[in-house]
Amino acid sequence: ETRSSAELIKAESGVLAHNYHPLPVVVAGARGVWMEDVEGRRYLDMLAGYSALNFGHRHPALVEAAHRQLDELTLTSRAFHNARLASFAEGLAELTGLDMTLPMNTGAEAVESGIKVARKWAYDVKGVAPDQATIVVAADNFHGRTTTVVGFSTDPVAREGFGPYAPGFRVVPFNDLAAIEAAVDETTAAVLIEPIQGEAGVIIPDDGYLTGVRELTRRANALFIADEIQSGLGRTGTTLAVDHEGVRPDVLLLGKALGGGIVPVSAVVARRDVLGVLHPGQHGSTFGGNPLAAAVGSAVIDLLRTGEFQRRATELGVVLREGLAALTGRGVVSFRSRGLWAGVDVDPAIGTGREISERLMEEGVLVKDTHGSTLRLAPPLTITREELEWALSRLGAVLGAG
Ligand code: PLP
Repeated sequence: ETRSSAELIKAESGVLAHNYHPLPVVVAGARGVWMEDVEGRRYLDMLAGYSALNFGHRHPALVEAAHRQLDELTLTSRAFHNARLASFAEGLAELTGLDMTLPMNTGAEAVESGIKVARKWAYDVKGVAPDQATIVVAADNFHGRTTTVVGFSTDPVAREGFGPYAPGFRVVPFNDLAAIEAAVDETTAAVLIEPIQGEAGVIIPDDGYLTGVRELTRRANALFIADEIQSGLGRTGTTLAVDHEGVRPDVLLLGKALGGGIVPVSAVVARRDVLGVLHPGQHGSTFGGNPLAAAVGSAVIDLLRTGEFQRRATELGVVLREGLAALTGRGVVSFRSRGLWAGVDVDPAIGTGREISERLMEEGVLVKDTHGSTLRLAPPLTITREELEWALSRLGAVLGAG
């Protein structure tokens, strides 16, 4: 490509749907936590592909696994078995303490698949009357962009204009056990929540909430589905965000980092008695479980098995929290963080989240705003302490904290 950043941005605007409003930076290469634009300027990546790049850009072990697989076999479809799929699912079972995997590609597909499995379970196992199954979800959720999923979003920008919406969902406030209790009944197939709400601004529920959801769903004979697509795989300092309360859901939805930032890989991971409700022909995906995805996914699981990334997220999470605490009252109004993941509310008098993001870009730090004056910080878990402190110093400078 010989065109400049400005030329490429202009060209994109003519030929790409305007469903995103990207920062004006055109990335041409990246390694680890650093990205480089078309003109050779360097930026520290503090977004990590919405946590798809937990292991950084082009982690050598993941790139090697992909290269090796490219030379062997890339796609069979599930019409045949492939030699990589069994060990990928065995790895997921070991990682999560659950039994079986339904491999898919994107996060939204994993959510859709989880919904289908929960409904099937409700009819086949729980005995809910045909077409009466309900699923309880939380307000301010983000589970993806498909028609069913946006139908139970409470964000008007995500939802409006895309109806009619699929019935069968009950929305309750997040972090409110009594509201879930009031919403579950004999029709409830599942309670579907993000253990930490990512797009909403890294909203962390009170201690005991996840334990409460676990107990409540068990009592109500409903499934607990945890969408760990953004919160899972090391981000919060543990393999899964639910590990902070030692809770095991019936169904886990994984995506993003499961593909190592190389290929789209998602999965529904569940107990045998839950995923066992699916029989041949009832669900599928041409690319789901393909050998390239399975090889990269297995390499991701190998990285997580070392515990190194969880440990880094925990240790550097303290640096992140202390850095943000030091900025509170000096441009930062409030923040929430767990591991290497933070939602930072900046003083709207200083600028919108978008404006602060643009100024940070000028300083060589890439972040993304979410909802007004909130920034989301989620660097690759490979970031060093010095790099993290530098990014925090740039944030301080942009906020005028001196
Ligand atoms: N679920 C959660 C919690 C997410 O954060 C996201 C993406 O941000 C999704 C689902 C959707 O994933 P995808 O964009 O891969 O469809």
